[in-house]
Amino acid sequence: MRIAIMSDIHSNLPALEAVLQRIETLGADALHCLGDIVGYGPFPEECIGLVGARCDVVVRGNHDSGLLGETSVEDFNSMGRLALEWTRDRVSAASLTYLRGLPLVCRREEVTFVHSSPASPERWPYVFSLTDAEEAFRAFTTRLCFVGHTHVPVVVGEDLSVNSFGPPGRTEDRARFLVNVGSVGQPRDGDPRAAFGLLDIEAWTYETVRVEYDIPKTQAAIRKAGLPAPLARRLSRGV
Ligand code: ZN
Repeated sequence: MRIAIMSDIHSNLPALEAVLQRIETLGADALHCLGDIVGYGPFPEECIGLVGARCDVVVRGNHDSGLLGETSVEDFNSMGRLALEWTRDRVSAASLTYLRGLPLVCRREEVTFVHSSPASPERWPYVFSLTDAEEAFRAFTTRLCFVGHTHVPVVVGEDLSVNSFGPPGRTEDRARFLVNVGSVGQPRDGDPRAAFGLLDIEAWTYETVRVEYDIPKTQAAIRKAGLPAPLARRLSRGV
């Protein structure tokens, strides 16, 4: 069974559509989303609709929570705050109800799904360092934990090895991994292409998939919407 996992779409519809198309081509059996469907970008309603229609497991991100007024706007930088205020007038009551129903954490058999970190997910901590990763490992019991939030794809093993996943170990080898799937709509690892993760549970393989999308289209829509210009510019550089 192959599972596609995406995160941090941030209302970037051209990026989301390109990712969904690639997932369809790859023939993944399931698709999960780790939150931050909205924020920063110009297409919130369309993105909530597509995620709701296509995804199996969906958990809530801090921007989704900020839109609902359940995470204080003080917790966001000025651009994030402006974008959330802009978004508030442009999403339907049905979309808000959908976001309100999303859990912070979801577990399916051997896998935990959460936006920020399994260690106090309601406070939205970032996993940037190996110390953060160590703390995260203490907070989940499943074999795998998928996160987003930093917009930087990375795989960390429980032995704190970085970017190695597998190969399939002996049956007694119970290696555990914390995986950041990167961001669909606002990558920050210097690669402007949309990112998502592809897990093959039987083969025990994982890869970060990158997808080109129409960046100028999103940038033009950000400018037309009157959203802060740096939110458009950063997409060209993936920062
Ligand atoms: Zn985000």
